[in-house]
Order: sequence, then structure tokens, then C-alpha cells
Amino acid sequence: MHRTYENDDIVILWDSEKCIHAKECREGSPETFDPARRPWIQLGLAENARVWKAIERCPSGALSVFYRHETDVVMEPDKCRSIASEAKKTVGMCEYHETEAGLEIYRTVVDADREDMGIAKRLVFKVLEAAERQNITVSATCSYAREVMGR
Ligand code: SF4
Repeated sequence: MHRTYENDDIVILWDSEKCIHAKECREGSPETFDPARRPWIQLGLAENARVWKAIERCPSGALSVFYRHETDVVMEPDKCRSIASEAKKTVGMCEYHETEAGLEIYRTVVDADREDMGIAKRLVFKVLEAAERQNITVSATCSYAREVMGR
């Protein structure tokens, strides 16, 4: 399961398949990470800096955190893609084909001056989360998406 949690400043990505339930995150910020609650991650209950430090304690790589940089990432299912934009300017996208087996991600691109900001990972997570919520299988020929998916 892939989930995105965000506020105005930071974006958290959580990959349940990597989570080993060591609870380091909960010890670092119990207000934010509560496995007994749904959603179990909630932003706005602790300072972002504390949340960031808690995520750095995650031993499995299940959690990652990025500054949001006023970059919106949304699905455009009619165009078979997720898209990243800043002030209405497109800065990246993750594109897929619809196949009989599900979705197949074939390309993830981000503007050169927006690399290393977590946007590509957010784009892939957006597609994965949307597909999972509809019980649609996702595969990828895009090497970056395969890396994010751990395949
Ligand atoms: S610290 Fe990481 S591995 Fe441990 S429970 Fe939290 S998300 Fe899962």
C-alpha cells in the first residue's frame, strides 16, 4: 500500500510493504504516527521539524519526507497520468497505459531544475495509490517507477 500525507510545507510518503512496524516513527512523534488511528499518519499535530526527525528514525525506508515547495501533484485519469504543477505550470508527470492486466507506467519525467525534490516519487506514489484504491494492478516499464515499486 502506498499513501501520501501532506500539509502546506511537507509531504510524507508511506510504503506499507517496507514497513516492519518497528514503531520508531511513533516514538519520535506519537501525535503524528498512531497505528490505532485512521488515518494512522496525521499532520498538523506536531511541529514539522519533529515529524521530519521522527521519519529519519525509520529503519526500513517505509517513510520518506520532502518539502512540498508549493508543488501540487494530482491525478489526471482521463489523460492516464499524474501531474506535478507549480503556479499552473507543469513541472513533471508520470504516464501510464491502461492494459487488460491493469496499469503500466511507462514514463516519469520532472523538469531538470526540479530534480532531487521528491517530485518524481510523489508522482509515482499518486498513481500507485489511485490504482490501489480501485484494486487495479500496476506494472511498470519505466525504470524509475520500478525502483520505487521495489521491482
Ligand atoms: S518507523 Fe518505519 S518501519 Fe517502523 S513503524 Fe514507522 S514506518 Fe514502519
